[in-house]
Amino acid sequence: MAIMVLQSFRPVLDTIAEEIANLDGRGRPADYIPALAAGDPRHFGMAVADLDGTVYGVGEWQRPFSTQSVTKVYTLALALAHEGEILWEHVGREPSGNPFNSLVQLEYENGIPRNPFINAGALVVTDRLHRLTGDASGALRDFLRAESGNDGLDFDRDVAASETAHGDRNAALAHFMASYDNITTPVPTLLREYFRQCSIEASCADLAVATGFLARHGIRADGTRLLTRSQAKQVNAVMLTCGTYDAAGDFAYRVGLPGKSGVGGAIIAVVPGRCTLCVWSPGLDARGNSVAGVAALDRFTTITGLSVF
Ligand code: GLN
Repeated sequence: MAIMVLQSFRPVLDTIAEEIANLDGRGRPADYIPALAAGDPRHFGMAVADLDGTVYGVGEWQRPFSTQSVTKVYTLALALAHEGEILWEHVGREPSGNPFNSLVQLEYENGIPRNPFINAGALVVTDRLHRLTGDASGALRDFLRAESGNDGLDFDRDVAASETAHGDRNAALAHFMASYDNITTPVPTLLREYFRQCSIEASCADLAVATGFLARHGIRADGTRLLTRSQAKQVNAVMLTCGTYDAAGDFAYRVGLPGKSGVGGAIIAVVPGRCTLCVWSPGLDARGNSVAGVAALDRFTTITGLSVF
């Protein structure tokens, strides 16, 4: 198939939105977090940002939603920028093959989580970032505001409270890792930071633009460098292999891009050197990935030929 020469992403987004409107079986919202349970799977938005931050969108691409685990990419990038290789002594970078909130591998592997994108790994990254900055969730919010250009971007206190009230599993993960000295922030403080992080509200436009540093090989929106070129490659690689949990193989097969999902229904994806994407639809499959979101990204890379392969 010939690769399209794109003047604008708008026509391809329109085509995808039409196809997604006819998609049957769109999954179910995350109901283990009561504040997300009312999410309607018929919602759909998608945005693509060029390297210079020009953004194209379709559907509800400017509507804010709960970003959830998509934020794990940005905390990883911030922690890596602060402490570099030391981070990898505390968290691995192998796919887990297990659900995102699983406890089973942690005891066999001495409290070192498989990767930064399952909940255990993200708790470790947030712990590191909190030690390094004194305010992990604030550092994340400031970073996302700066990169997206949206100063109004903020936490959703209702979602954070809802997760806190139903956070036994994440609390169990944090306490267990603390018993291996792989968490040093007091667990209640760490959980507060982690739930705030997950509760950040942003739109497809915000996240597509804010993820640009990963397509620009580590360069932030203001032209300064956050990550070395090699670190940006590393984050993209971990997104490809671990960003959609135990569906990462199928996601790589269908989409062929580094991507990261969240149970709010968002998925971000990176075409290094070219553009960044964010798609949102709250209906999830059994592994916690947006059904319409994966389908839309699958169509995007198939139609445009823009993929890392
Ligand atoms: N806040 C969610 C949790 O900790 C994030 C999970 C996700 O988006 N996959 O369970």
